[in-house]
Amino acid sequence: MIPFIDLQAQRQRLGQPLEDAILRVVRSGAYIMGPEIGEFERQLAAFGHAPYALSCGSGTEALVLPLMAWGIGPGDAVFCPSFSFAATAEAMPLVGASPVFVDIDPQTYNLDPQSLQAAIEAVKREGKLTPRAVIAVDLFGGPADYPAIARVAQKQGLKLIADSAQGFGCTLNGNHPIHWADVTTTSFFPAKPLGCYGDGGAVLCKDEALHDLLISLRVHGQAVKSDIAGKTFEHDPKYLNVRIGMNSRMDTIQAAVLLEKLKIFEDEIAARNRVADRYAAGLGDLVKTPTVLDGGVGVWAQYTIELEGRDDLGPKLREQGIPTAVYYPIPIHKQGVYSGYPTAPGGLPVTEAKSGQVISLPMHPYLAEDDQDQVIAAIRAFVKTNA
Ligand SMILES: *Cc1c(COP(=O)(O)O)cnc(C)c1O
Repeated sequence: MIPFIDLQAQRQRLGQPLEDAILRVVRSGAYIMGPEIGEFERQLAAFGHAPYALSCGSGTEALVLPLMAWGIGPGDAVFCPSFSFAATAEAMPLVGASPVFVDIDPQTYNLDPQSLQAAIEAVKREGKLTPRAVIAVDLFGGPADYPAIARVAQKQGLKLIADSAQGFGCTLNGNHPIHWADVTTTSFFPAKPLGCYGDGGAVLCKDEALHDLLISLRVHGQAVKSDIAGKTFEHDPKYLNVRIGMNSRMDTIQAAVLLEKLKIFEDEIAARNRVADRYAAGLGDLVKTPTVLDGGVGVWAQYTIELEGRDDLGPKLREQGIPTAVYYPIPIHKQGVYSGYPTAPGGLPVTEAKSGQVISLPMHPYLAEDDQDQVIAAIRAFVKTNA
C-alpha cells in the first residue's frame, strides 16, 4: 500500500537528532513547560511572521482560548465554514456561543466572503445573537481569501481567527494569514503539515495584551504580568488564579520534536508543492484539481480532487494499493448535534454539493514519483472507463 501520509519517511530523514532531542527532555525531567517550550514558541512566531506565539494542548483548544480571551459566550455568534473538520465549529459551543455556518467558494473550498456578509446581516436582522467573530479555515492547506474576509469582519467590527490547522505555513502575496487575522491557530496533530508525536496546538497573535491573557487562560487563569503589575502580594502570585482558564499546556517533548521538524518545514512545503504540481499536470485535464488563490502558496495538507463517481473511485484505487480519504462526507451543519445552529441565508448549496464529489489522494513531501505516477494512471484509467 502506498502511504497516504508517510510520517516514517520524515522520521528517518530527521534521524538521530530527533531521537536525541526527545531523550534530552526525558533525562532533563522538565516535562511540563521546559525550556524547549519557550524556544519553540519563539521560532514558531518567527516562522509565522507573528509577534507572539503560544503553544497549547491541541488545535481545538487553540480555537477555544482566543474565544475565551475575548469573552465570547452565550448569546454570541461566531461565523465559520461548515466544510471543515468539526473542531472548527466545536469551539463555539465549548464556550457557550453559537456557530453560524457560512458557505464556501466552489474553487478554493474556503469561506465565501459574500455568504459571510449575508450571514452576518441575517443574524443582525434577526436580533437573537450578537455577531462577535469569524473563523476562516485554510482548508486542505490553501489560504482563505483573507483580504476580502478581513474587510467584511472589520466593517462589521468582528474579530477574525485564521484556523490554519491544515494550512500553517501558507501565504498569500507573501503574507501569512496573521497579516489579516487577529489570531492564527494551528494544530500539531501528527498528520497535519507541521505535526508532533501526539497532540499539540498553537495560537499566534499580534497583540501583547491578548498574548498575556492567553498565557493566563492556558494555565488555570493564573495571574500574569498585567494582573501583577504595580501590586504587592502576601503569597507567591504564581498561585493566584484570577480568571477561569483551563489546562492547555503542550508537553515539552512535543516542543522538542517540533523544533527538529521546523528545521525542515520550509523544504517540506516546497516538496509538497512539487507533488501538487505533478498531480495537477497529470490529472488536470480529466478531473477538477485544487485551486489556490492567485498569489497564494498552499502547504497541501490534502490533495483533493472532484469527480462524478467519487464513491466508486476509492474502492477501485484501494484494490490497487492506493489509499484515499473523503474530507468531508458530511458537512458540519448536517451532523446531528450541529444541525440546530443557523446557516447563511439560502443555506449552503456549494458545501453540500462538494461533500458528495471530493476525494483526497496520497500527499506528503516524500511521495516517490513512481508511486505518484501509479496513482495518476489509476485515476486516469478509472475516469476513462467511467466516461
Ligand atoms: C485538525 C483540525 C483542528 C483541530 O486540531 P486538533 O489538534 O485535532 O484539536 C481544527 N481545525 C481544523 C481545520 C483541523 O483540520
